[in-house]
Amino acid sequence: MNNIEFDKRHIWHPYTSSINPLPCYEVVHAEGTKITLADGSVVVDGMSSWWAAIHGYNHPKLNEAAKAQLDNFSHIMFGGLTHEPAIVLCKKLIALTPSGLNRVFLADSGSVAVEVAIKMALQYWACQGRTEKNRLLAPRNGYHGDTFAAMSVCDPINGMHSLFKNSLIEHFFAPAPQTRYGQKWNPDDVAPLQELLEANHHSIAALILEPVVQGAGGMRLYHPEYVKTCRQLCDQYDVLLICDEIATGFGRTGKLFACDHVQVSPDIMCLGKAITGGYMSLAATLCSDTVAQGVCEGSPGVFMHGPTFMGNPLACAVANASIDLLLSRNWQQEVNDIYQQLTQELASLQKHPAVADIRTLGAIGVVEMKQAVDVAKIQRVFIENGAWIRPFGKLIYVMPPFTASKQDITVLTQAIKAGIEATFSPS
Ligand code: PMP
Repeated sequence: MNNIEFDKRHIWHPYTSSINPLPCYEVVHAEGTKITLADGSVVVDGMSSWWAAIHGYNHPKLNEAAKAQLDNFSHIMFGGLTHEPAIVLCKKLIALTPSGLNRVFLADSGSVAVEVAIKMALQYWACQGRTEKNRLLAPRNGYHGDTFAAMSVCDPINGMHSLFKNSLIEHFFAPAPQTRYGQKWNPDDVAPLQELLEANHHSIAALILEPVVQGAGGMRLYHPEYVKTCRQLCDQYDVLLICDEIATGFGRTGKLFACDHVQVSPDIMCLGKAITGGYMSLAATLCSDTVAQGVCEGSPGVFMHGPTFMGNPLACAVANASIDLLLSRNWQQEVNDIYQQLTQELASLQKHPAVADIRTLGAIGVVEMKQAVDVAKIQRVFIENGAWIRPFGKLIYVMPPFTASKQDITVLTQAIKAGIEATFSPS
């Protein structure tokens, strides 16, 4: 049995079937923006391994940081012990994130960072004696991860988890933001959410949202004023604001954090993915002093969460190197150049009869088709055209490493055009 046959028969991949798996390609090397497949083809990475590999692959600075930490110690329990890589990282996160986020929980994946955020919000109110504030509010079309609490705040109808609906805690859902990024802000957009808050704030612990970009729920780019108004409403109705910046954090939208588009400071913020430049599994949940103090008042007096791999030193060391690397480069210019080029090169697709919509923001380009994409078929064409792009549903989207060259971006946009021509043209 060769590798691919074994993989097909025995290994789960994200969102694939064991009965009828999608084709899977073996990677033998990855360097810079290029991925080498086992058949020798070299493809430009259009995905940053799902928002994460912002500096590309096999970066000497990140390798160096990982090796140095490996030669010292790779993991140590975080219960009762601490270490410099974690301390340095938390100093950086506190300094870089919106003001007031002063306490950091180092989690081991994005979904866990969301679980932690939700538990913090619930424990905060429970410790104030407000146990009735035990529900969340979220805009529709959101996505926050695949674990149980995270699933419960994803879009309940069109989301990826509707199958589990009957096993999930029921929360409140507002219509998704409608004013697109770049359009004139329509304050009515937030009115249904305000109505829900007005009627139910006594039982709502927190509002959770992905600021500015709703990712896996539809790659929707919405007006940052929505986030700002949500901040004001949360203050007005005594509800905590959780911003999930797991996908948007570390520059992807053109600001270091999507909250920075409107200078919003949430009470709790989740980070992940690009925190280590996509090298290691690490995430973080930051909260304000008020939340941190509130969580630990009364019984049990401690925050009830503590994963084995919390604060993994190897991951923290790489995160430090990744953040230093990002800040040492003119990343705003890099992201803006990608934005300009994606906007320009994808624009001609707007006229294609199979294309419903084109949207771009920061280093993100989205082509929404009118019908679902045949992933296996179109991916073959992408690879033949030198690109690694992984569509889902009706969406073909790219979020390349910030280090992508002009030529890399052209490879990606040309591959998208070739893929659409080959799989959507009337035969
Ligand atoms: N929140 C958002 C906004 C995400 O995009 C993701 C991952 N796609 C998650 C949470 C979950 O992160 P992870 O896959 O690392 O568990």
